[in-house]
Amino acid sequence: MKHQPRPESFDLLIIGGGITGAGILWDATNRGLKAILVEKGDFASGTSSRSTKLIHGGLRYLEQLEFRLVMEVGRERAILHRLAPHLVHAEKMLLPIIRGGKLTPFTASVGIWLYDRLAGVKRTERRRMLNKEETLALVPQLDRDRVIGGALYVEYRTDDARLTVEVLKSAVKKGAMAMNYTEVTGLLYDEEEKVVGARLLNHRTHEESFLYAKMTVNAAGPWVDTIRQMDGSLQGKRIHWTKGVHLVFDQSHFPLTQAIYFDTPDGRMIFAIPREGKTYVGTTDTDYTGDPNMPQIEEEDREYLLGAINHLFPTLNLTKDHIESGWAGIRPLIHEEGKGASEISRKDEIFLSSTGLITIAGGKLTAYRKMAERTVDLVCAELNRRYGKVCLPCMTKTMPLSGSECGLDRLQEVKQDLIRRGVEEYGLSPHRAEELFSRYGENVEEIYQILRGLEGEDTGLTPDEMAELRYTWEKEFVYTPADFLIRRTGIHYFHHAVSLKIAPFVTKVLADWNHWSAEETKMWSEEMKDHCDVQEARRESLTEKIGRND
Ligand code: FAD
Repeated sequence: MKHQPRPESFDLLIIGGGITGAGILWDATNRGLKAILVEKGDFASGTSSRSTKLIHGGLRYLEQLEFRLVMEVGRERAILHRLAPHLVHAEKMLLPIIRGGKLTPFTASVGIWLYDRLAGVKRTERRRMLNKEETLALVPQLDRDRVIGGALYVEYRTDDARLTVEVLKSAVKKGAMAMNYTEVTGLLYDEEEKVVGARLLNHRTHEESFLYAKMTVNAAGPWVDTIRQMDGSLQGKRIHWTKGVHLVFDQSHFPLTQAIYFDTPDGRMIFAIPREGKTYVGTTDTDYTGDPNMPQIEEEDREYLLGAINHLFPTLNLTKDHIESGWAGIRPLIHEEGKGASEISRKDEIFLSSTGLITIAGGKLTAYRKMAERTVDLVCAELNRRYGKVCLPCMTKTMPLSGSECGLDRLQEVKQDLIRRGVEEYGLSPHRAEELFSRYGENVEEIYQILRGLEGEDTGLTPDEMAELRYTWEKEFVYTPADFLIRRTGIHYFHHAVSLKIAPFVTKVLADWNHWSAEETKMWSEEMKDHCDVQEARRESLTEKIGRND
């Protein structure tokens, strides 16, 4: 059957609700396009909740002589910090220099000097070389006999899934549409064989529908080739999947106050990053051909990361019993013949098929804004060529994201005021008020309003947990327990025992709000249980050991 774009149709349909699709939706909306994004699962449920959670310049791309990439992502870090300061924070990273390791004081010093220049790092944040004692003062658990010195440089840390959701919320506030649990199951074509929309399957209602749009962008991350195949345009370059695993340890087992980027025995480099009383470590980088929907942490992934940690920190003696949680993600890289997993470029590329389908592949969380700019430039050029439509220029470089609308300069003042009010007016602990701010920025005000109006029914959740759940359900598209516990709050990774404890209550409340049948309630509850390959026994003992407020 042939289709025609309807008068009421969208200018742009975006397939995929990870950071790439979200960035495109935000950019396109600001250029005056009527845009809609559809996501088959939850927003950020693909790779965009499973990264190292760094907005980083990619020091290692220097090694691969990818100067343009270093320049672009390096400069994007400062821009994203300015646009979303409640979510993107500067973090000093320590590069220890180890006897017999990959770096010498000279190569580290020259390498980071060049990196700072390419990435446009401001003077106050440029690298500082450390001697042995200074390095050990920052990370005393390092092997004193092997440490020679170190280098401190600046990266930025974030929460990938929250960043994705804040970008989406920004777009929706400006009139865009975003639908999760809505899968593209086919593409629609006109008489000239141009894509004019998609067939959708709503996984909440199980209903099918047609959606019409003048242009369609495929931002499906690891699934971009599935969509290209659907389009009959899977020719030339292909996606190459590599799996990356992170493990989370309690600080009582892996005490670390300083983020660190260190050599593994096989010559790769991995991060160990303190966060919320935990230390998370990653990543592995191995070819992957399994199911992209639920990549698992395998025994060899655990062994590899534990081996790397114990090699550099011999006194820790970490074993798999110390692992509290973790996640595995799939990198959607563009295949390069003859290159191994770690060597493939992280560059992005845009393909325009003869049907008019635009695919954006590869790339990084850090580069999402520039990737969106390039993609929407092409969308606008095609809209102009085919329909005579004129777009506004890209504006995202200066537009603060949801939660940081007050701007970087006022953020600290707004933060202190909201935390004070959380404590004085709503009885929150300072820690909890700060935690809420770090997740929602100035939108925390809306959580306070919900808290004020709560009826006091016994749900098993504390009033502030109820208010947070309600806010994410109303304003952040939460549908299932995993949406809330994994992607909106990160509780499942960083407060694992609390997540296990409150999951049944969260499920019960969501079942009520979503009017789930008993069967649906069971399905979403089971889905939550499937997440994260952590030993069952450890889960149980943790649940018993740790109280409600972690
Ligand atoms: P995804 O987030 O996977 O989004 C694509 C979405 O499309 C998915 O949610 C999927 O469900 C949806 N979809 C697929 N098919 C359909 C369909 N038919 N209909 C509707 N929706 C569909 N980058 C950094 O900058 N910093 C880091 O620290 C970093 N660390 C990383 C560590 C690891 C282990 C990995 C794997 C990657 C890391 N990256 C990092 C890279 C970064 O995470 C990815 O480049 C980015 O998240 C990819 O986003 P995406 O939107 O393209 O893909």
